[in-house]
Amino acid sequence: MIDSHIHLDDPRFDPLRDDVVARARAAGVNGFVVPAISRETFPRVKTFRNRYPGVFAAYGLHPYFVDQHDKADLAELDHWLQQEDPVAVGECGLDFYLPELKAQKQRQLDCFLAQIELAKKHDLPLIIHARKAVPEVLACLREVGYARGEIHSYNASLELTRQVLEAGLKTGFGGAVTRPNAHRLHQVVTYVPDEALLLETDAPDQPPWSHRGELNRPEYLPEIARCIARLRGQTEQALIQIADANARELFGLPEISDNRSPETTS
Ligand SMILES: [Zn+2]
Repeated sequence: MIDSHIHLDDPRFDPLRDDVVARARAAGVNGFVVPAISRETFPRVKTFRNRYPGVFAAYGLHPYFVDQHDKADLAELDHWLQQEDPVAVGECGLDFYLPELKAQKQRQLDCFLAQIELAKKHDLPLIIHARKAVPEVLACLREVGYARGEIHSYNASLELTRQVLEAGLKTGFGGAVTRPNAHRLHQVVTYVPDEALLLETDAPDQPPWSHRGELNRPEYLPEIARCIARLRGQTEQALIQIADANARELFGLPEISDNRSPETTS
């Protein structure tokens, strides 16, 4: 199965990355979409894409670090998108949750709009971070006239979800779904149609409920799938097939071949 959003390059994985990947594979997770978050992380993401089979790179400038990104970074991003054969532009987007980020609203909008333009130019999907900012994300996509991609770590209202789906975006669900009291999110994950659903861990952040307080790992993806399948009244296997096909289609992923025995997915 494919983890459609994992920060495998995160320094917190430095002492245990081989083990993280090995245990994910043993759990049936053999595809990893790894989005960069700043110019400094581009080479790291590339390194791990080359080191581990099944790792696919995306390059982008995360809104969390908006005060660091400048015009030169956008030019560098353009270059990496051209040269490095990524599967998406991201992680990019808008974050109006934290006050210090909301204070830089215009700078965030400019940086996100420029990245939508780059996605359009290079014909790539977007991996979007949208925290308290889904209406503004949709407005930016409309402004550029390009809405191919997904909103990751999806957690918006049912009303906004209708607009997100209408725009043609996909929605990535992760560990937050496993929180027993996440009632609104449970409703949303049940509402989203098959063709818009992606699975992700966002590791090392956002561990599932049973691992709260720990470092998140891609090996927990089947647990997230099991929870979502139960909520949606689907079998785990059917849900995984649907989500994998969506990730493959959105990111244009090839078949992933490794030595994993087929029975490990059950
Ligand atoms: Zn992320």
